[in-house]
Amino acid sequence: MQFYLLPKCRQEPHARVINKNSWFRQTNLAFHMPMGYFNCMRCRICSTEIVPNEVLRAVISPWIRELSNVKGRLTNLYTCSNCEGGFFSVVYSEEQMETLYRDYRGVQYTQIRNKWEKWYSLNYNQAHESESLVAKRKSVLEEFLELNGVNEVYSVLDVGGDLGQYIPLFYSNTRRYVIDYSDRKLVKGVDRVSSLDELQKVDLIIYAHVLEHVANPLGNLLDLLPRTRYLYVEVPFGVPNPSVLRKSRVTQMIALALSYWPKAWSQFSKPSAGRVQAAQILRQSEHLNFFTERTLMELAKVTSCELKVSTNRIPTPDGSVATVLQALFINKIGSTGHQYE
Ligand SMILES: [Zn+2]
Repeated sequence: MQFYLLPKCRQEPHARVINKNSWFRQTNLAFHMPMGYFNCMRCRICSTEIVPNEVLRAVISPWIRELSNVKGRLTNLYTCSNCEGGFFSVVYSEEQMETLYRDYRGVQYTQIRNKWEKWYSLNYNQAHESESLVAKRKSVLEEFLELNGVNEVYSVLDVGGDLGQYIPLFYSNTRRYVIDYSDRKLVKGVDRVSSLDELQKVDLIIYAHVLEHVANPLGNLLDLLPRTRYLYVEVPFGVPNPSVLRKSRVTQMIALALSYWPKAWSQFSKPSAGRVQAAQILRQSEHLNFFTERTLMELAKVTSCELKVSTNRIPTPDGSVATVLQALFINKIGSTGHQYE
């Protein structure tokens, strides 16, 4: 996956990026964070001020901490009353993101994750690449684009597109590109680019199952939109539900204690595959942001795009199904040369 880093001016001021030097800040200050801290939290999408008593407490999954050298342990999930988006307060640094996604679901990733979450086996990992799963996901994408009149696509870029296996064929002369952290061999007919600047404007950008991973979802969209006519976004549907236990510092401390022992942690872990978990212990793993239709509508409003959005069901590697949001952002301003900011 590829995550675009933004100029500092676009980084949200309240996002706490954790790094090697912030151990004290994360382990002590976060624990003793006064409620006044939350008063200055604002939504990552629409900038609405966050209501302090809507904040849920969570821990950062130990396999993420081990794999990506994340020193912080505690985090909070806040939900926006305006756009319904959910956001973890801790985001990962560029270095940590690269460590996490460079060899995404590779040997080291699988080993470390399996140590903490026994269900994450090699078989489960390989199921992500099964032909039927890929074909289904691809057809869900194709049907949505067709339904919404996306045709005449002669150039398409899949950002965070793995091997390019999800890109529809369109026409025989459609140029197909992928940007991704990994450097694995791409499927036939797809070319790798290392940066957006290598390409002229393309007809379609696919941004599927990436937005929930990034530190600055709005900033990333603002980076991508001027470079395309259509931006297709797919994300898991839903925001973790609030509960008394999830708001409790005691629950958070129990989760923190469990997160020191692989066997204990594994007992409370199960596949989520993009579904919003019902477990009372809230964990921050790869997903930092959560969306409903309303969140995407707000994103379209903020980016001055026309939006087509719907929910759909896709198969998951554990043999179940997950609900996803499919969204098409139709760029109205970028085509006239208007500069965002
Ligand atoms: Zn919001």
